[in-house]
Amino acid sequence: MPQIQGLAAHAAGAELLSYKYDPGDLHPDDVEISITHCGICHSDLHLIDNDWGNSQYPFIPGHEIIGTVSAVGSEVRLLQVGQRVGVGWQAGCCGICESCFKGEEQLCSKMQGVCVGRNGGYADAVRVRARFAVPIPEALASENAAPLLCGGITVYSPLRNSGVNPASRVAIVGIGGLGHIAVQFARAFGAEVTAFSTTPEKEAEARALGAHNFVNTREHDALKKLAGNFDVILTTINADLDWNPYIQALRPKGKLMFVGVPPSAITLGVFPLIAGQRSLGGSPIGSPSDLSEMLDVAARHGIKAQTELYPMSQANEAIARLKKNLVRYRAVLTNQ
Ligand code: NAP
Ligand code: ZN
Repeated sequence: MPQIQGLAAHAAGAELLSYKYDPGDLHPDDVEISITHCGICHSDLHLIDNDWGNSQYPFIPGHEIIGTVSAVGSEVRLLQVGQRVGVGWQAGCCGICESCFKGEEQLCSKMQGVCVGRNGGYADAVRVRARFAVPIPEALASENAAPLLCGGITVYSPLRNSGVNPASRVAIVGIGGLGHIAVQFARAFGAEVTAFSTTPEKEAEARALGAHNFVNTREHDALKKLAGNFDVILTTINADLDWNPYIQALRPKGKLMFVGVPPSAITLGVFPLIAGQRSLGGSPIGSPSDLSEMLDVAARHGIKAQTELYPMSQANEAIARLKKNLVRYRAVLTNQ
């Protein structure tokens, strides 16, 4: 079996270096994918920096993968060599727990991340359980679809599961990789969409992506004026904030949903939660079936990631731009 070649982090915060590994014999339930594109999600940076304390070095990051099936294990029936597929955060699950039986594999306590203790998509190939490789609709270009495999599903699921509809008022906090896709899905669900951003230069693009309103959150009192306004506030940022004004900005029964991962624990007054019957929640990715639905919705509604394309060899340059919040709006690496 030929070796897989990629770019790996060898220590916390280090630049990625060329790296090869031997994938061994192909597992009967696995597919091997020859990678054409891989998005750079901010979670890759958290893993490279060991922000979550679970990184094992060396490892190849990357979990927004699109490519072509190059080999199928002996038990694989659903996919064929040559098919274009995508892989997101998840590479495996136990298959026998309650969540797996319900088709909610993303909630499996033994879920395997593609690049957590394994090697991911900044490479020429990757292997995953076939169940986690989903066909990509023809209408979606690989460059613009790769970021949907993690960023897209992560924002689609909480909007869909919160029942966002034409009567809803939705705020998206942080117009980065996840946030710029969230604006598009919230608009497709028919909601009035407000973009919350620290970067005023993003206003015109946020509006072009579907936002009806744009709020510069660095402006004093910007949030106070919006008290009682939103049914759902979806936050995609990876920074610490005072979340109390965000709770105040919810309507009665409104939800503050976290998908971005702030570094510190949050502190909240509970009276606004009790009095308005407001709630807090979090949400991870989605199941393979959710992924297929989300991709179909994206294809039918013209939803795509706005991308900056880099050759795979320039992953470090792209990561440096992401760290400075300069990427508009998702960096994607390509082997083509
Ligand atoms: P990203 O492209 O870097 O976007 C994050 C955005 O947050 C930035 O563009 C910026 O938007 C805003 N921001 C950055 N620093 C800020 C600060 N100090 N104060 C306020 N806003 C700030 O990152 P991403 O790829 O979208 O990922 C975002 C987060 O989601 C990460 O923590 C990632 O690990 C997490 N994530 C979670 C899941 C899940 O399953 N729940 C899946 C994927 C990613 P503005 O310029 O508009 O302010
Ligand atoms: Zn991700």
